[in-house]
Amino acid sequence: MSELESALGARLLFPHDREYEVSRRVWNAMHDRRPALIARCRTAAEVSLALRYALAENLRVTVRGGGHNVAGTAVADNAVMIDLSLMSEVAVDVAGRLAHAGGGCLLRDLDAATTPLGLACPAGVVSHTGLGGLALGGGYGWLARKWGLTCDHIMAVEIVLPDGSIVEATEDQYDDLLWALRGGGGNFGIVTRFTLRLRPCGPVHLHSGAYTLDAASAALAAYGDFAERQCRDLHTVGSLAYPGVQEWIPEKLRHEPLLFLTAAWFGDLAEAQARTAPLFETAVPEASRIRTLTYPELQSLGDHGEPHGHRYYTKSCYLREFPAGVAASFVAAARDIRSRRSSIDFEFLRGAVTDVPDENSAFPHRDAPYIFTASAQWTDPEDDAENIAWSRRSVNRLREFQSAGVYVNYVHDENAKATDVYGAERYRRLAEVKQRYDPENILRHNQNIAPAPTTAP
Ligand SMILES: Cc1cc2nc3c(=O)[nH]c(=O)nc-3n(C[C@H](O)[C@H](O)[C@H](O)COP(=O)(O)OP(=O)(O)OC[C@H]3O[C@@H](n4cnc5c(N)ncnc54)[C@H](O)[C@@H]3O)c2cc1C
Repeated sequence: MSELESALGARLLFPHDREYEVSRRVWNAMHDRRPALIARCRTAAEVSLALRYALAENLRVTVRGGGHNVAGTAVADNAVMIDLSLMSEVAVDVAGRLAHAGGGCLLRDLDAATTPLGLACPAGVVSHTGLGGLALGGGYGWLARKWGLTCDHIMAVEIVLPDGSIVEATEDQYDDLLWALRGGGGNFGIVTRFTLRLRPCGPVHLHSGAYTLDAASAALAAYGDFAERQCRDLHTVGSLAYPGVQEWIPEKLRHEPLLFLTAAWFGDLAEAQARTAPLFETAVPEASRIRTLTYPELQSLGDHGEPHGHRYYTKSCYLREFPAGVAASFVAAARDIRSRRSSIDFEFLRGAVTDVPDENSAFPHRDAPYIFTASAQWTDPEDDAENIAWSRRSVNRLREFQSAGVYVNYVHDENAKATDVYGAERYRRLAEVKQRYDPENILRHNQNIAPAPTTAP
């Protein structure tokens, strides 16, 4: 311990320390766990020390990036939590269009460094999400159709391997590791620095419409028809939820769940209105709003709806099509919603997501056209069972329209299997990489890939 203590000093937190109570908490209050100690690391060398200490003491290890994983994998009782949140620095190489981002930075840290330079790395839609978990699991977001997933932008990493060694994985060295890190989650090591490819980014035109549930089926039919015919500069998302107090929603509509459709145009602003309006001409909304936002404004739009410290449960699936039966199931799930904070969210994907060949990344199911999520959010533990049941029921309603697999970063069920996430063949390949780098399965508090020896072809 003394080497770790002298390296981290007051950044090594024990249950009696004042900061421990704050640091052990993760975004989802469902996971109220107490680690044996928390190592708030600043460098790869410190991460290595903390890992070696845990191994020597036979303690389990968890890794905390942004702490947003809905399944709470960043924290476990009596484990050593390796907390990367102080590793949030970002350096930008403008000429090379690269960002070097600390393994614990949040999406907003990344955007704060890149967007003033007119650059961005495609990432998720809530700015207080951690880059680490999001990028290693995939990373859907507003720019996915135009540029692809966050994991497609990982060009290199500095990583502490489960044996404590620190290496740089690139496409030229440890290429098997880089492949696995692009979608395989936190199974293979602790990333202390990401090198990410950046893309040009400018203002975005956002056109939204709100519909009552009685009008939702027709609007959803228009959405499916419109979304699938668009170019990559157009990204369309939808949700069914209570509106809360939003000025553009008339007072009389604020007391029931509504359908919201949004078309975001990332191309030439001169064309924007002509590109997004047709969605709302076919199915005319009760209320609509058109805005031009900067990219950081867009990235923080979802921040207030998903605060830290509430209780959350998420269940998600991919949909292979969008017929009337899907719309009917969405509406039924919305009528059944148990909490005013819960939401049903969906988006049409494809575009650049489908460009990346299998040999470049472990991320599965790139062809899935739609992703659907039933996100339950509430505050009273007494309401746990009711909200969890609603989320599960909402996904079950869609069973006949689902395609294979599930997005690893939206998996909440403790008994969900990683083979369901990746499919048998990709899982086998991931298990071989796991065997090479983590044969003892030290990094197992995640959506776990069990190590397996290479099988003969
Ligand atoms: C409000 C909210 C909005 C979201 N929006 C999106 C979205 O738009 N698109 C999307 O794709 N996903 C989204 N997600 C899901 C998100 O991708 C996952 O929750 C992800 O796990 C969050 O990463 P984190 O670092 O914050 O998580 P943490 O809970 O800190 O970590 C989760 C796991 O990731 C691994 N990990 C994290 N950092 C590292 C690292 N540096 N090295 C090695 N392993 C690491 C560890 O295994 C850890 O257990 C959202 C989640 C929330 C809560």
